[in-house]
Order: sequence, then C-alpha cells, then structure tokens
Amino acid sequence: MDNQPEKITNCFLPQLVDQIFDNLQRKVAITTPTKETRSQFFYDLSVLLGEELVRRTLQLLDVYRFTYYYAKHRQNQCVVELYKGTEYFRLLPKINYCKCDFFQSYVLQLPTGLLYPDIPTSQEFELAGWNEVSRQSYTCQHVLGLRLQQLLKLSDQKVNEKILYPAEFREIYLSIFED
Ligand SMILES: [Zn+2]
Repeated sequence: MDNQPEKITNCFLPQLVDQIFDNLQRKVAITTPTKETRSQFFYDLSVLLGEELVRRTLQLLDVYRFTYYYAKHRQNQCVVELYKGTEYFRLLPKINYCKCDFFQSYVLQLPTGLLYPDIPTSQEFELAGWNEVSRQSYTCQHVLGLRLQQLLKLSDQKVNEKILYPAEFREIYLSIFED
C-alpha cells in the first residue's frame, strides 16, 4: 500500500482548472472572446497543466473529430468519441477518465507491469515523445480536448451526433471502462 501523503496540488488543481474554464465560459456567454482573453486562458491553463499537454491538446483539436452519442429517449446520457481514422477514444463529458496510455500511466500512475505485462517490472517505462515534466499529470489531451471543444466551439463542422438504441448505447458506454 502506498502511504505517500496526498499532494496539496492534487487537491486544488481540479478546482483551479474548473475556475479557469468557468471564467472563460462566462465571457463566451456574453460575447466572442478577444485574442487577449484567449491568450490569457491558454496561459493560465499551461501554468496549471503544463505547456506540453496544452500544446498537444491544441494539435489534437486540429486533426480529431467528435461524435456525440446519445441514447434514444434518454438524451441526458452522452458518450463522446474522439477519432482520427481508425483510432478513437471514448469519454464521458465532465468525467476525468480516459483509456489512453498517457492517462493510465501518467495520470493514474498505474504500475507498468499491470498496464504492459510484456515489459519487465525492473525496466523504467516511458511513453515516447513526452517530456519528463508531463509524467505526473492531472489529465490527458483527450479529456482536455473535449472540454476545449465544448467551451470554445472551435470546430463545429468537426462535430456530429448519433442517437442510438439503448442496447447500442450501453455497449459503447461500457466499453469506456473495459480493459
Ligand atoms: Zn486520453
């Protein structure tokens, strides 16, 4: 059992991130945000979440598309799929969870042996291309990308909706948590 005390940053980070989003949300509701407002938003986000994560999230928004799945007659339930070609990640809006390698390794900090049984436990594991500072992260580029898409409506033509029968919806919903 890991007895490390909970870090103060981890307690307050979600609140601070929410605050930054809420601030911009209020401004967006009234008028189109100015360049300065947007710059300040991305700066604040980078300070909290790391420049690399924010930069990669913006790159992701350029190339990924979004499908919002709703269950027929129950449209308060929603699963969002971010996809590019055959690669996809399914998320629940407002839930900080993703099945991607980055989230599992650097957000949840799951042991390498559990995630990748083929890699010997003695071997230090790292995801290719990420800086060392990103290896302790609050969220991944997919979760952040979805929040940004919803907030900034950056890519309206990249978003589509599908209504599914309950059984189909359930299948997609459950796949989020399956191994
Ligand atoms: Zn992810």
